[in-house]
Amino acid sequence: MLFFAAAVHTAALAPAARRPEPARLEQTQNYRDATAASARFNDELQAKDEKKTVAIIGGGLSGLSCAKYLSDAGHKPTVYEARDVLGGKVSAWQDADGDWIETGLHIFFGAYPNMMNLLRELKIRDRLQWAPHRMSFAMRQRPGEFTNFEFPANVPAPFNMAAAILTNREMLSLVDKVKMVPGLLPMLIEGQDFIDAQDELSVLEFMEKYGMPATVNEEIFIARARACIKLWL
Ligand SMILES: Cc1cc2nc3c(=O)[nH]c(=O)nc-3n(C[C@H](O)[C@H](O)[C@H](O)COP(=O)(O)OP(=O)(O)OC[C@H]3O[C@@H](n4cnc5c(N)ncnc54)[C@H](O)[C@@H]3O)c2cc1C
Repeated sequence: MLFFAAAVHTAALAPAARRPEPARLEQTQNYRDATAASARFNDELQAKDEKKTVAIIGGGLSGLSCAKYLSDAGHKPTVYEARDVLGGKVSAWQDADGDWIETGLHIFFGAYPNMMNLLRELKIRDRLQWAPHRMSFAMRQRPGEFTNFEFPANVPAPFNMAAAILTNREMLSLVDKVKMVPGLLPMLIEGQDFIDAQDELSVLEFMEKYGMPATVNEEIFIARARACIKLWL
């Protein structure tokens, strides 16, 4: 997909600052399949005279969307949530100072057909803020500075990832980039079959097996894992 989107909780951005939704989003087979799947709740899966009362444990994305589709089909769902906010891992709330706290790091790709479809059905898809397909990392050696991996538009995955790696100048040296070829090239050539065949390996084992540079583990994967752990402590 060409872009990713981050959910925003306010309409603070002026319309001019918004990027348009990717034009081809609804023309993909994935999207058509997702639309057809959810349309089934309005026709063949309708409760008719067999209305069920359903208890849903947990008000995260799964529980809330389950409740939405059950309700569309005419059933009576009740969501039981242990916390005092809904949304689970994507919840957001205002603290005592009135600041919005988001359980952040969430991006929704245009290639998530069910999510895009759900947001459209709820009439809140216009709240997604489309952004360039970019990964930004803080640089350990240069505190306060960031480096970007830019995934070019109009280059299909996974080639856009190869371009993002090759054009990054701050985090990866030329030697690092060359060292990444043995692990990444088979992904580009063999695709999912190669990826499935690596299932038995941890990320670190995969990187060691293909001689990928330690920098990638330290600066990207460990950094991301720490950010995730911190969020949940
Ligand atoms: C750091 C991080 C970053 C992520 N980034 C992305 C991203 O960028 N894009 C993306 O698509 N996905 C991302 N994900 C994954 C995504 O957040 C989850 O897949 C999704 O939110 C899970 O939704 P869920 O409803 O299945 O579970 P949860 O969101 O975990 O919801 C479960 C809910 O059940 C409640 N609950 C649990 N036990 C009980 C009980 N006994 N009684 C009552 N309530 C209970 C919990 O309080 C919680 O509210 C990320 C996840 C993490 C942790």
